[in-house]
Amino acid sequence: MMSRQKNQQPPKYYAVEECPKCGYKIKRDFKDGDYVLKISGVCPKDNSPMFISMIYTEVEQPKK
Ligand SMILES: [Zn+2]
Repeated sequence: MMSRQKNQQPPKYYAVEECPKCGYKIKRDFKDGDYVLKISGVCPKDNSPMFISMIYTEVEQPKK
């Protein structure tokens, strides 16, 4: 493993909420207690409960 800079920011976590009815998806910041398939939020199009379909991290690329 290569050593990296110590002051690197920790990766940021995101959750993707998905509506099972119309397929609407929205990305938002990960919150404590989130997990995949958790019911979270309401679809703005048809008011169906949305579930978390994905949780992932995005590592910010430093600009050169
Ligand atoms: Zn919907």
